[in-house]
Amino acid sequence: MISPSSQADPNKTATWTVVVSRGQSRNPAKRSLEQSIADAASTLEGADVVVVPHLYDLPKGGESLQKLSEIEGNLIVVSWIFPRAAHWVLDRNGIRGQFVPVAIGDPEDEDQEEPSAEQSENDVDRVADLFPRPDRQIHCIDLKAEESLDRFSEEIQRLVLGEAPSADSGAADSGPAATPDETSLPIVGGRIVQVEETTARRWYPVIDFSRCTNCMECVDFCLFGVYGVDAAETILVEQPDNCRKGCPACSRVCPENAIIFPQHKAPAIAGAETGGSEGFKIDLSKLFGAPDGGDDAIATAARERDEQLLLAGRTAVGIDEQLQRRQQDLTAQPKDDLDRLIDSLDELDL
Ligand code: SF4
Ligand code: SF4
Repeated sequence: MISPSSQADPNKTATWTVVVSRGQSRNPAKRSLEQSIADAASTLEGADVVVVPHLYDLPKGGESLQKLSEIEGNLIVVSWIFPRAAHWVLDRNGIRGQFVPVAIGDPEDEDQEEPSAEQSENDVDRVADLFPRPDRQIHCIDLKAEESLDRFSEEIQRLVLGEAPSADSGAADSGPAATPDETSLPIVGGRIVQVEETTARRWYPVIDFSRCTNCMECVDFCLFGVYGVDAAETILVEQPDNCRKGCPACSRVCPENAIIFPQHKAPAIAGAETGGSEGFKIDLSKLFGAPDGGDDAIATAARERDEQLLLAGRTAVGIDEQLQRRQQDLTAQPKDDLDRLIDSLDELDL
């Protein structure tokens, strides 16, 4: 366990920055855990600490994102959303690097990485392959995974003191980070910079570009103008605040399960790992939390979109031609290992 202290040398050059993203609620236990992690990390030689409001809620052009974008070295991001969600929230805000999920509380799965495009059976280009991210590492830790300060502190200490797993062989040698400019923000305790920025709860899709194939299904599906394309004709969430609060419909339609709503109650939609190559193909109606005993994922998405259209005073469109094609695609997909396992169980006629 790392003992909280404020004795660290504020003039040293950091090689790691620990980003603690506060939760949306004012739950005292959560606040205490966040502060304890920040205090403990601030005592480590080679680590700076930045505390910001909830990552997902940070406004474009705000003080928190400005501060985070100035950091050049490796990051350890501690937040209340799933690691994959935290990584791609940062990425959409231009804070980019190699994703390294940290499996606190589950030693068996520790250091498991995101299933890559190579691991999947789909031999298609992903946006992140076409536009590679910088080599620096972004280790993401889920605060929901554990209640003990010790486990978080041990993991952060392990990373900062040099026993970190590499995202790739060159990533760990990417050089020391520039010391963040701390002149305009208060330093609390040792090396903690705490950004006190007022934020409001937001709701918008976040794209996992390690999965996204730029197929544009989401652009066609969303009738609220949320998606657009950049100068390189790559999909982006252009008008995030046009998204209808609570609506996760497009995440059910994306063929690659690349659309994340970090605050959704269904873990798969909120960015939980889906586990192996089958994660791209298992029954979406179950994986994505569709109601039992009825609709498939596409029908559910159409219903959810219609609900939002009606709430906005517009006309429902139901299952249009695009969605009919998606339904046919889902039923026509080639069989994978999971399908074959189910077939062999069927043959046993148990
Ligand atoms: S539907 Fe999914 S894979 Fe296709 S462009 Fe949108 S996010 Fe990317
Ligand atoms: S959740 Fe609904 S409103 Fe939001 S981007 Fe997706 S389809 Fe559009």
